[in-house]
Amino acid sequence: MVVPAPRSMLALVKTAPGPGLELREVPRPEIGINDVLIRVRKTGICGTDLHIANWDGWATHTIKPPLVVGHEFVGQIVDVGSNVSDFHPGEIVSGEGHVVCGRCRHCLAGRRHLCANSIGLGIGRDGAFAEYVSLPMTNIWHHWPGIDEDVAAIFDPFGNAVHTALAFPVLGEDVLVTGAGPIGLMATAVVKHAGARFVVVAEPIPYRRALAERMGATIVVDPTERDLKDVQAELGMVEGFDVALEMSGNEAAIRTALANMAHGGSLALLGLPTRETTIDTNEVIIKMLTIRGIYGREMYETWYEMTVMLQSGLDISPVITHRFSFREHEAAFVAAGSPDSGKVIMDWEAGEFS
Ligand code: NAD
Ligand code: ZN
Repeated sequence: MVVPAPRSMLALVKTAPGPGLELREVPRPEIGINDVLIRVRKTGICGTDLHIANWDGWATHTIKPPLVVGHEFVGQIVDVGSNVSDFHPGEIVSGEGHVVCGRCRHCLAGRRHLCANSIGLGIGRDGAFAEYVSLPMTNIWHHWPGIDEDVAAIFDPFGNAVHTALAFPVLGEDVLVTGAGPIGLMATAVVKHAGARFVVVAEPIPYRRALAERMGATIVVDPTERDLKDVQAELGMVEGFDVALEMSGNEAAIRTALANMAHGGSLALLGLPTRETTIDTNEVIIKMLTIRGIYGREMYETWYEMTVMLQSGLDISPVITHRFSFREHEAAFVAAGSPDSGKVIMDWEAGEFS
């Protein structure tokens, strides 16, 4: 049964510039004629949320408090605007966190992931770490029956992983994944599912290396201790990696990937370096590499791909290592910031006002 939404809700708010987040009572979001109102059930904590909570340099320049944070969620529709006919109260949905302009060249051509004017949920507009969130209907993804709710809560970063992992064909190819944070871990499972031969994961943190093994990596290495040339030799590889997925944002990892690519190989860059990075462009030219930047998810091809891969047996659930109630948000954020975690879920179901 769908209960009518109350006027107030609890939300995790960046109330003023500076570190910290506050769980406080705020007005429930209003919806316009094209919007959908969702009762949030579960949310995932992303590195972006940690940046905002910690108030680092990026957050200082980007975030305008007061702001409800968070963008990874699953919930149930409770109300829709008068123009909305494809979504109905009671349905289980997630939201695409990039709200695009709809009017630029790329949006008009259906390439919405390339919109240069997109506004981030929980970044440029109030987000999902709340009992309710509202989004335009064009941002709603209807979950198909049978999708696990915890997994549905992290379709946003799962989508980052899928968008990157499927940027280049991987069937029969040897794939290097640098960085086994939540996204690298999910990408490991995806390329394995998509038919890669060897999937080598480089990650300095032991806890995450263990998770990478569970996600199906062929070999997991600490890049500070073992040269990837040595790993290639162990696997009998002679020409280098066909595909590399850079998921750490670490300059050393990008260099390692370039140095271990096969001629004609492809490198997808997802990890966001926190400062300018230098690469040896000779390596790119002489090996005739293709480098592609990946941002967000394709709307909605990536969402479709995630769904059908789950239906055909892909299991990303081991990436979820911690679960908390939203009332334990401080502990949840500590866990998400720890090296000994994968994905951290906050449960919003037992709320204050509904
Ligand atoms: P994360 O920070 O949890 O994971 C990064 C991992 O890289 C860590 O486990 C870290 O130990 C590892 N690492 C550090 N140095 C390394 C090295 N030299 N070699 C190999 N691994 C190394 O982050 P995440 O949530 O999994 O996200 C991955 C990256 O993607 C981050 O940089 C994040 O900012 C970025 N990101 C990009 C997009 C996008 O749309 N492009 C979206 C979300 C996140
Ligand atoms: Zn646009």
